[in-house]
Amino acid sequence: MFIQRCITPDCRADYKIDDRLYVCPRCGGLLDIERTGEIAFDPAALRELWRARLTSRDARDRSGVWRFREFLPFNDEDPIVTLAEGNTPLYDAPRSADYCGLRQLQLKHQGNNPTGSFKDTGMTVAVTQARKLGARLVACASTGNTAASLAAYAARANLVCAIIVPSGQVSHAKLAQALDYGAKVLEIDGNFDTCMSFIRELSEDSAVYLVNSINPFRIEGQKTVAFELAEQLEWRVPDHLVVPGGNLGNSSAFGKGFRELLQSGLIDRQPKITVVQAVGAAPFARLYSEHDDSNLINELDPKTLASAIKIGAPVSWRKALRAVHETGGSVITVTEQEIADAKAMIGRDGIGCEPASATTVAGMRKLVAEGVIKADETVVGVLTGHLLKDTDYVMGYHGNTLVGPDGEQIRGRFTNAPIQGQDLQDLQNES
Ligand SMILES: *Cc1c(COP(=O)(O)O)cnc(C)c1O
Ligand SMILES: [Zn+2]
Repeated sequence: MFIQRCITPDCRADYKIDDRLYVCPRCGGLLDIERTGEIAFDPAALRELWRARLTSRDARDRSGVWRFREFLPFNDEDPIVTLAEGNTPLYDAPRSADYCGLRQLQLKHQGNNPTGSFKDTGMTVAVTQARKLGARLVACASTGNTAASLAAYAARANLVCAIIVPSGQVSHAKLAQALDYGAKVLEIDGNFDTCMSFIRELSEDSAVYLVNSINPFRIEGQKTVAFELAEQLEWRVPDHLVVPGGNLGNSSAFGKGFRELLQSGLIDRQPKITVVQAVGAAPFARLYSEHDDSNLINELDPKTLASAIKIGAPVSWRKALRAVHETGGSVITVTEQEIADAKAMIGRDGIGCEPASATTVAGMRKLVAEGVIKADETVVGVLTGHLLKDTDYVMGYHGNTLVGPDGEQIRGRFTNAPIQGQDLQDLQNES
């Protein structure tokens, strides 16, 4: 049995799992999905069961999310909406490791999901719940990837999908996905935070189901990435896990995932979770460095080229803070220049990612320089989105025309502009 429970310490009200809620009706706090009653899992048997499912043809087993369904709030009879999400690679990244001053570095590439970002791991669960609740319309505000993901899963589930995006601020690749999957896309003047307030108003209609990461079912799906990662590491967790921070659903989900693994005896400690924000969109880093846990002060004009984390009022900050505190991690910022160079380095490893994802490697480099991460510690970075999500940025970087949010020229240290030449000799001279 599962319930929804308010995370506010002096409220902790609980609600039925199928109540259509986004926040606690009593205090407005965020909701967590929790298991009621004690279930004693046999860790060895669970690991064996999950491993055996890897060779199964069942759609549930082929999904890297639903393969761990013992920890998801559904019954076996509930029909699921899946695109075979998850099952993403964990890559060794030797050049990036070197760049950071680490002996070894692994990157978990969530860009290898069906729509090219980690959002799919949460969306499969949230849209499954939407269908279970009998919603007719699913909706979200988005900087692009949530829109692309929701549009795809809504199409699979035969639900109408409405998306609100900030006009002119979403990359063409992401918008193209949402349009092709048949979503109704509303472009409004303003930024992501403006879109979010629109969507909250819309979700007061009971036929509408809201699937921004305020929705606790999104977090349930996303937490399974911790399970998959732990399994890929033979259940030996790394010393550090580094993730980008925007709306902070991802970091919250990793916190919950590793907490549940620890409580169930599947792992024997948690990785230190470090969240990295772009310096121009860093309300969470500010809260953390000022040691004021009581209230996050919104950034009214968030600025960064890493559009997926250009968010000034992150909804899940309390959950993310819990994850950082509980694991002994931290919250830091990196500059536009650092993001850009780190991204190019991840590319040189033959991996690549979108700008927001590169905050991880940029952040690790900083933490190693500061002595917070030691060169021989084990480190995993989470790459949240695919390289092809934002090719304008990539071409700008390599062509040396990338201009930061304050009009500053970004001088790439690893640029690789196309060679203008007449014959093959020009290419040979270069190599
Ligand atoms: C959504 C997204 C993020 C931010 O994740 P949050 O859960 O909002 O913190 C980072 N990178 C990419 C590529 C994303 O799509
Ligand atoms: Zn409450």
